[in-house]
Amino acid sequence: MTQRVVVVGAGFAGLACADRLVTLGHDVTVLEARDRVGGRVWSQELIAGDADTVIERGAEFVLEGYTVMREIGQRFGLTPAPSGMSYYVRDPRNASAPITAEQVAAAARALRPAAENVPRETSLRQFLDAHGSNPAADEVLAARAAISWAASEELLSAHVLLDSVASVQPLPTARMAGGNQGIAKALAAHLGERVRTSAPVTSVSADDAGVEALVDGTVLRADRVVIAIPLPLLELLDLRPGLPDAQREAMARLVRGHAAKLHVPLAQRPSTSAVIDVRRRYWCWTATDGSGLVQPIAHCFSGSSGALAGLEVSAGRATWLDALGRLRPDLDLRGDDALLSTWDDDPWATFAYSGPGAATRPGDEELIRTPIGRVHLAGEHTAGDWAGLMEGALRSGIRAADEVHAAA
Ligand SMILES: Cc1cc2nc3c(=O)[nH]c(=O)nc-3n(C[C@H](O)[C@H](O)[C@H](O)COP(=O)(O)OP(=O)(O)OC[C@H]3O[C@@H](n4cnc5c(N)ncnc54)[C@H](O)[C@@H]3O)c2cc1C
Repeated sequence: MTQRVVVVGAGFAGLACADRLVTLGHDVTVLEARDRVGGRVWSQELIAGDADTVIERGAEFVLEGYTVMREIGQRFGLTPAPSGMSYYVRDPRNASAPITAEQVAAAARALRPAAENVPRETSLRQFLDAHGSNPAADEVLAARAAISWAASEELLSAHVLLDSVASVQPLPTARMAGGNQGIAKALAAHLGERVRTSAPVTSVSADDAGVEALVDGTVLRADRVVIAIPLPLLELLDLRPGLPDAQREAMARLVRGHAAKLHVPLAQRPSTSAVIDVRRRYWCWTATDGSGLVQPIAHCFSGSSGALAGLEVSAGRATWLDALGRLRPDLDLRGDDALLSTWDDDPWATFAYSGPGAATRPGDEELIRTPIGRVHLAGEHTAGDWAGLMEGALRSGIRAADEVHAAA
């Protein structure tokens, strides 16, 4: 039976959900608070008018196993462009003792069997204290995981050493040619007038008869709603009835990552590179884009609230630029045109992404995505093993659409 479905949020999760629902024959309206689609995927020319300078202010790397993202890209003629470097391998600098990427990789391999045998609630800090044997390598591994998961090693589970995001194997990595946001734009164009931007939803209520979403003082009625907004905003949403206590508590146990990016134009085209500042907890890379050439841009990413505080990102780009100048004297930085992107102060995100916390309990993953009657949940935070990632957002949207279809 055809369902009228309201999807809240036009990030990857909401758009993939709407796309699937339309394919399954349902009547869909997507409501997006911002004046653009893509949410935490936001591609932009660093130098306006120069298509060779497209950067990612949010999600960047298309990693191992991103089959759904690749398939959707292919449908719309969008191809992943190799980055010419590996997201996974970074030259360590500013550790308390000299150490190489090879030594870090060897230490990670040696720790793996022990990590497989500790319970998930062991924090990465506890694990390294108990099992680490090379302090400089442990320091790099802790920094690497904290940056990538945007949270401290005290909060993260030791199991991050087993997943691919914090892996140190030289696997290939890519970005979508022309920008990752192209995926969101293509899905939205395909959905046409079903997508409404500048339409923030302020409350959602549901009963046995249907759902009501309040947007701009207007009530929209439907059979079901899929809420695909960032986790902290879901927790604050005026939802009636509210989230059950057990579900709310499971959500509260997810790690909330905090991250920022800095993009700096370069006077010359460099070679590809990837360097991690172990003490400051950020990394900087130079990479190829869809043209096959290395962009004349230094890309930087910092993760965890301690690192953001150390780089003083809330006061602007100056401290980070200064640190970068010392980390990468090989790059001719044009700091005046640098662009800082922060997410904690973005009202429609308020954080970066969720991560695998030591506090997570068995069963949490399922609890977090369980529908509450006619209210279905999507978004990266509902994606289990894929949480925190673009691929997880897309998969969660498709899963929620299938759930709506099955319920209908
Ligand atoms: C700095 C940074 C770097 C990242 N790097 C990577 C990476 O390299 N690789 C990777 O795979 N992932 C990365 N990610 C994670 C990735 O961006 C997210 O996992 C994914 O984009 C989340 O998609 P989503 O649809 O769940 O949420 P979002 O993209 O946040 O979409 C939710 C949408 O809901 C809207 N919204 C919020 N509240 C309301 C409301 N009340 N009414 C209507 N609309 C509302 C928002 O405006 C937003 O558009 C990164 C994220 C950040 C911030």
